[in-house]
Amino acid sequence: MLKVALKMLEVIEEAGFQAYIVGGFVRDHLLGIHSNDVDIATNATPKDLKKIFQEACLSNDDYGSVTVIFKNIHFEITTFRKELSYKDNRRPDQISYINNLEEDLRRRDFTINTICMNQKGEIIDLLHGCDDLNKKILRSVSDPFQELEEDVLRILRAVRFATTLQFQLEETLEQAIKEKKYLLCHLSMNRKKEELDKIFSSPFAISGVDLLKKLGLDQELGFTKIYKVKLCSQMIGIWTMLEVDDLYPFTKNEKALMQQIREVLSDPISPLNLYYYGLYPCVVAGELNGIEKKKVNEIYLQLPIHNRNDLAVQTKDILEVLGVSPGPFLKKMYQKLEEGVLTGKLVNEKDALLSYCTQVFKEDMNE
Ligand code: ATP
Ligand code: MG
Repeated sequence: MLKVALKMLEVIEEAGFQAYIVGGFVRDHLLGIHSNDVDIATNATPKDLKKIFQEACLSNDDYGSVTVIFKNIHFEITTFRKELSYKDNRRPDQISYINNLEEDLRRRDFTINTICMNQKGEIIDLLHGCDDLNKKILRSVSDPFQELEEDVLRILRAVRFATTLQFQLEETLEQAIKEKKYLLCHLSMNRKKEELDKIFSSPFAISGVDLLKKLGLDQELGFTKIYKVKLCSQMIGIWTMLEVDDLYPFTKNEKALMQQIREVLSDPISPLNLYYYGLYPCVVAGELNGIEKKKVNEIYLQLPIHNRNDLAVQTKDILEVLGVSPGPFLKKMYQKLEEGVLTGKLVNEKDALLSYCTQVFKEDMNE
């Protein structure tokens, strides 16, 4: 991936511009973490880049940057810029293109996100990001109070990096977050959820939750049930405990899943729950109850049936033995058969199931 990224710099430089890899890719590379996308800073304008990459180039009009997908890697190429003014405590509404890397780096959020790599693969560290990277400190590039006021998303980015990388917040940044947290109301619920998803899907999610509490962000984010959150490797498990289904923009599937997890929470390894809800909600609920995934899996695999087709009888057998035509009673009959087999009251064998059907049918007739 690094090779492809360096090749990309070469292509831009050959067209007569400067180009550096910057941000997450360099940071993660130095930390030995794999990244999926590469950010490039250049003095080529979006117009120049469109000439270089032609149809491979998608422009993001909102940001004045372009995206190029090259050898399956996602490159976000941004022209060196200065941010002139900000709107609604979120993103600049006026920028100007500049011709100076250092000045471009100064508008970025944290020092560890300003480390660059040139076309030879050499590290260029104009703002001493490597010092902070080695000390595992997250430090604002400029005055954190002003930085957070200009763009309040940086509060959640700070919590995200502190969580995923297990870095400490530099003291004034921490103070600034506490002071400026009230501005989070200006951030859209979509943007909040995007960052929170990254925090909650980290292996260190629980320290992220603790940090949100420590900084007092739980109130600003509407997390009144944060005290209920327990360690869970699945971010949906954390969202389930937070009970913010209607506050954040979840998909229909996510909402349904959270509801299912809650429904099986009291007994995630009961055969009936495993059968009717399926494995995944039970695994998540199991984890929230301290039951290992392996155990939930084993119990699931041992279920005598996993769906209706696994029953040793079919509809035609039932109708034949009862001597009746199909009707609504079948639904109830199947449910009784499934429950009987799953709870071990019935053996999943044709004769046993059919004689049970006859008995149930007679009882129902007498009712
Ligand atoms: P990752 O891609 O791993 O999520 P990243 O740091 O690369 O992390 P991006 O959103 O890809 O994050 O942004 C690329 C770079 O742009 C950042 O490293 C940072 O230098 C700068 N940046 C991004 N968002 C902001 C922001 N809100 N304020 C200031 N600088 C930012
Ligand atoms: Mg990135």
